Amino acid sequence: MRIGILGGGQLGRMLALAGYPLGLSFRFLDPSPEACAGQVGELVVGGFLEEEALARFAEGLDLVTYEFENVPVEAAHLLAKRLPVLPPPKALEVAQDRLLEKTFMQSLGVPTPPFRGVEGLQDLQEGLEALGFPALLKVRRGGYDGKGQALVRTWEEAEKAFHALGGKGLVLEGYIPFDREVSILGVRSRTGALAFYPLVENRHQGGILRLSLAPAPQIPPTLQEKAEGYARKAMEALGYVGVVALEFFQVGEELLFNEMAPRVHNSGHWTIEGAETSQFENHLRALLGLPLGSTAPRGRSAMVNLIGVKPNVAQVLALSGAHLHWYGKEVRPGRKVGHITLRRDTWEGLAQDLSHLLALAQAAEPV
Ligand code: AMP
Repeated sequence: MRIGILGGGQLGRMLALAGYPLGLSFRFLDPSPEACAGQVGELVVGGFLEEEALARFAEGLDLVTYEFENVPVEAAHLLAKRLPVLPPPKALEVAQDRLLEKTFMQSLGVPTPPFRGVEGLQDLQEGLEALGFPALLKVRRGGYDGKGQALVRTWEEAEKAFHALGGKGLVLEGYIPFDREVSILGVRSRTGALAFYPLVENRHQGGILRLSLAPAPQIPPTLQEKAEGYARKAMEALGYVGVVALEFFQVGEELLFNEMAPRVHNSGHWTIEGAETSQFENHLRALLGLPLGSTAPRGRSAMVNLIGVKPNVAQVLALSGAHLHWYGKEVRPGRKVGHITLRRDTWEGLAQDLSHLLALAQAAEPV
């Protein structure tokens, strides 16, 4: 089986690395010749809407999936005329638009922060009157890692942010003083079979995921059930196939939906060593209609992202239970270039070395 992946970043690279033991092969489409998945599989360099590149990419493939959620939906539709494209393009469409995704989840009965679409100053004014300060003003499309959004505390700040963010195509959200951020990964097979990973706690820094703790400590079973129920509803409504990630704000025993990624997700990287079956392998199993693998955790894991730094490899590997994943990307400030997962049998064992792990992920080497 030959699988085509739209996007050639680290998620595609890790999908391929999980798929080779299953006897699969991979081809990537990415506009950049430097795309790091190209180091582990065939790379077609071209734009997602370039007809000639799409044709070269599609030739001889059995199915297509994506590792990048801002692939133009049109590219997915064009490919879907020739071969299966999974998850369904509809999921891509919903997840690319913050207003659409919140409206969609709300229609399924999933709680979200209060929100309003903003297409002009009047919407902004009415929205702020209804939601109050502070509030978050975000672009509907294209924002990521905390970019394309602003926290506003006054009318002046709101007006300034409104103009800076383009004055239309925005969504205003009530500010949620959450206890913590958590995410769940669900997987739905072509056969309709479902599986869920345990909730993960995510800590961000400067809008970028820094640390995931998995399974999230102190999750009452009711919260896990809630998260699974929300993910199930979303997957069933979309006829979803593959891994999906839902991010939530936890407020006491409540979960408020923040966003959805129709793909494997950074908060699931711990599953490579920390779960019986990784998110990458389960995504592929789901696409192919193969039996899903167990999502049971193996002990406790902490995953830390390497952001714009190359760590000292020997020092990382000297830490028992630490696993380094280097993506083969050029190191640039603010860029995710790798991650380290520390896996231990117990929380106590993990907690002891958490600060050491974080220090290793900060320690830059000359590159
Ligand atoms: P997002 O790109 O929407 O995930 O937002 C980036 C980060 O901003 C989130 O991970 C939260 O830490 C914070 N944030 C986003 N929306 C809200 C909100 N409505 N209330 C409080 N914090 C938020």
